[in-house]
Amino acid sequence: MKTLTLKELFMDELADMYDAERRIVKALPKMVKAATCPDLKKTIQSHLKETEGHVQKLEQVFKSFGEKVKGKTCEATVGLLKEGDEIAADFKGSPAINAAVISAAQKVEHYEMASYGCLHEWAGLLGNEKAAGLLETILNEEKAANEKLTELARASSNEEALCACDQNGSQEKSADQRPANLRRGIRPVSSNRNRAESLAL
Ligand code: FE
Ligand code: FE
Ligand code: ZN
Repeated sequence: MKTLTLKELFMDELADMYDAERRIVKALPKMVKAATCPDLKKTIQSHLKETEGHVQKLEQVFKSFGEKVKGKTCEATVGLLKEGDEIAADFKGSPAINAAVISAAQKVEHYEMASYGCLHEWAGLLGNEKAAGLLETILNEEKAANEKLTELARASSNEEALCACDQNGSQEKSADQRPANLRRGIRPVSSNRNRAESLAL
């Protein structure tokens, strides 16, 4: 039986992320298009520039190990981007579109953060300081992009999405006299607690 080493695990994951970043470069312009909030468009656009830089940095990481640059289909990114396309299409024209785009983008950022967290750690263990530094730079840019998206969601996109629900709610008022949070499908804390208790049984 062949024993695969940390170095092999590292190179495998590196090829996965090289493929992921190249897919993300192609996908981000679609997210810019789908978003209607100018600040969100700008944020995704500037992360596109950084993402192009990630492709180049990963090429430098391959080189720092004396390895040939190579990609290996990242099925996770394929799936995340497919879901992103779907949610953007479903919410096109809705006031919830920016919240939808942010959620799709953040799922990609979190996958990248998990992957670069590992790659950075492993590069250090493998004694490659140059690679570790490059991977840390990428990791920090993914974290910053994710935080910026959270800020935008909290500053405007989530509220916009919620307002749309309020408007629907007031139109339906005569037919539906339930409190606004229930009409919006938000469960009151107590019923969440009951549900949690019943799940615990
Ligand atoms: Fe990236
Ligand atoms: Fe992957
Ligand atoms: Zn990213």
